[in-house]
Amino acid sequence: MNEIDDSNLAQCEFCGYIEDWDEIPTANDPWCSDGRVTVCPECNNGESFKDYEVKNYIIKIAKESGLWPSVTDTFPNEIQLFADLVAAIEREACARVCDLQAEKDGFEGYYAHCCAIAIRTRGLNEKD
Ligand SMILES: [Zn+2]
Repeated sequence: MNEIDDSNLAQCEFCGYIEDWDEIPTANDPWCSDGRVTVCPECNNGESFKDYEVKNYIIKIAKESGLWPSVTDTFPNEIQLFADLVAAIEREACARVCDLQAEKDGFEGYYAHCCAIAIRTRGLNEKD
C-alpha cells in the first residue's frame, strides 16, 4: 500500500520508517504472548513501532515542501491549522462530487449520498 491513511500511522523507533499499522509485516515469535511480532521492513528490527502522530507527519511534509525548520519549529500550531483548513476544503470538494453523483443517479444515488456523509463526518472526527 503506497497511500498512507493518516488515521492509523505507526513509526519505527529505530529508523523512522512510517507505515499504516495494518500494513506492517509480522513474523512468528513463540515467546510473544500472541505469537506474532511486528518487523520493520526497512531496518528489520522487531517490535519497533509506536503510534505516529499526524501532527508530526504534517510538520515532516511541511519541511519536505521547503519550509525552513526555523519556520516549522516556531509555528507548528499555525502549520497544523493551515493543513486542517486545506484538508477541510478538499473534503468538502470530494463530498460535493458525491452529492452531484447522487443527484445524477436519482433513486440509485443512495451509496454516493452515504459517501458524501462519510467524507463530511471525517472532518468532525478529526476535531477529537
Ligand atoms: Zn525500522
